[in-house]
Amino acid sequence: MTPLVDPFGRAISYLRLSVTDRCDFRCTYCMAEHMQFLPKRDLLTLEELERLSSAFIGLGARRLRITGGEPLVRKGIMTLFRSLSRHLATGALDELTVTTNGSQLARYAAELAECGVRRVNVSLDTLDAKKFAEITRWGHLPQVLDGIAAAKAAGLSVKINAVALKGFNEDELFTLIEWCAAEGHDLTFIEVMPMGEFGEAVRLDQYWPLSDLRARLATRYTINALSERTGGPASYVRLAETGQKIGFITPLTHNFCESCNRVRVTCTGEMFMCLGQEDMADLRAPLRADTDDTLLVAAIRAAIARKPKGHDFDYSRAHVGGAISRTMSHTGG
Ligand code: SAM
Ligand code: SF4
Repeated sequence: MTPLVDPFGRAISYLRLSVTDRCDFRCTYCMAEHMQFLPKRDLLTLEELERLSSAFIGLGARRLRITGGEPLVRKGIMTLFRSLSRHLATGALDELTVTTNGSQLARYAAELAECGVRRVNVSLDTLDAKKFAEITRWGHLPQVLDGIAAAKAAGLSVKINAVALKGFNEDELFTLIEWCAAEGHDLTFIEVMPMGEFGEAVRLDQYWPLSDLRARLATRYTINALSERTGGPASYVRLAETGQKIGFITPLTHNFCESCNRVRVTCTGEMFMCLGQEDMADLRAPLRADTDDTLLVAAIRAAIARKPKGHDFDYSRAHVGGAISRTMSHTGG
């Protein structure tokens, strides 16, 4: 089958699939405390998620990341990982990964490893239990640390994702780095993005540019830039003193769209061709219209043909430009 190439010549080889909009945490930058979740009937079933993933793999997707909401709270989620693992066995898929808040990892890490998952991304913004409870509203730090330990024990490599938040975890920059170095985890910092129903003032107030963070890092470590790119918004450096790889996800300070290789599909089958644009294609209708994939594949191709050049997020003006109302938990982070 002809692989997926968008109008700007970018081959689409990476699918990020959200399997639920629900979550057992309520991170302040991601969700409101009292969220209205989607009715269950709107969600793709596990079988539909599997069919959709397999269709993308058939069209040349080499990497698949399962995300959410919190993917590991979806009932029966291991059935999906088990069935997707066959694509790893055949070599059709290079990598199956998951982004999680870590709350269920103690329960599932070993099974994920059995399914061929080699890496997990765990979101952790602070190592202070009180601050953790404050930022996640419903989360418990020890549960997440146990989950991370279980992932490590199962042989999974762990990447910690920390959202850089002004006045919140600035003072933990070196603590986080040292903890990750001691535990052998990679670490990536993310700039807070203008998603969801939040006041602009709040968002601008929380924004800690990673250029700033990096400059602070340079006061203690020798930073060697790495040339590797993932096709996404991350750039990487290595700290000479610890040998650690540190990532920076800077959707706001740098434009990364030229090399974009990915699309996102939500748990209801909405395909977003760009994280920062509203345009989407419904894949649920073609999925449900027929047991054959012809309509589904046609819908995917038609959507890729209108993948936009890039996003319009911009904090450089007095207000937040390009903000969109979708939350990360909806689109799948
Ligand atoms: N629940 C899982 C987790 O927290 O890792 C997966 C989904 S979560 C939406 C994925 C990532 O998006 C997390 O690392 C989270 O910190 C990040 N995120 C959520 N809202 C964000 C925002 N407004 N700006 C930047 N990152 C955000
Ligand atoms: Fe849940 Fe992840 Fe959003 Fe936090 S960032 S509320 S853990 S989906």
